[in-house]
Amino acid sequence: SVDGANGLTVTGLTVRFAGLTALDGVSFTVAPGTVHALIGPNGAGKSTCFNVLSGVYRAAAGSVRFGGGELTGLAPHRIAALGVARTFQNIALSGRQTVEDNLMLGRHRLTRAGFASAGLRLPRARREDARHRARVREIARFVGVDEHLGAPAGTLPYGAQKRVELARALAMEPSLLLLDEPVAGMDGGERRRMAEVVLAARADLDMTVLLVEHDMGMVMRLADRVTVLDFGRRIADGPPGEVQRDPAVVRAYLGG
Ligand code: ADP
Ligand code: MG
Repeated sequence: SVDGANGLTVTGLTVRFAGLTALDGVSFTVAPGTVHALIGPNGAGKSTCFNVLSGVYRAAAGSVRFGGGELTGLAPHRIAALGVARTFQNIALSGRQTVEDNLMLGRHRLTRAGFASAGLRLPRARREDARHRARVREIARFVGVDEHLGAPAGTLPYGAQKRVELARALAMEPSLLLLDEPVAGMDGGERRRMAEVVLAARADLDMTVLLVEHDMGMVMRLADRVTVLDFGRRIADGPPGEVQRDPAVVRAYLGG
């Protein structure tokens, strides 16, 4: 079933801010191993949805289930520990730390010995640290940021920082990856390259991907299925080609 394995089921999700209903009973399901796009005009509630899925915001009503387990109401670190990783619409790297250290932070969930004991030079911790560093370098190569590993993340060009964000999320080896506008501000070549990396990562790491994206070309290229939000409500849901022609969707984008 969709709810088993790495499937995601969002049911009746409602989020309110003072005087504003940002999400109003939104439901959708993401089949395991697929790329699912969440689209809609500005202010539709896409980032709010990600913030609930990753535990940053609390829902007023509704539920989120992943891999058969309940995520609703769990703290961000608990959700991360269950294999959910995300990137942010606005880059959220630790700018003064090196790219390598940012990616090592992304591996935190997998580090049994922990970073504190790694500092004590216990043999097992040292071995684990070396193993994680090797994997981080592999992922950096995969995403195309290995040349930047030693540089403070904040000094990188914008497009490279977006790729580091993706690499940091991949470093967690998540089973559910939430990507919030991964190609915003990138040029055409960078966009295509990012799409290839996401598809290759999905196949290699056996992930389910939920993607917020404005670029319809990217959505068409990447998504198996699309859910469309407008003013916090779901207005369409289906295969990308169908959703793109849906009159309600066309209206929302023209009116927005
Ligand atoms: P999208 O990502 O689709 O552009 P958002 O989820 O960021 O939309 O925002 C949906 C609505 O919720 C917007 O009207 C936005 O202003 C509001 N909103 C989002 N986060 C907050 C917050 N922390 N406090 C108050 N209002 C918020
Ligand atoms: Mg947003």
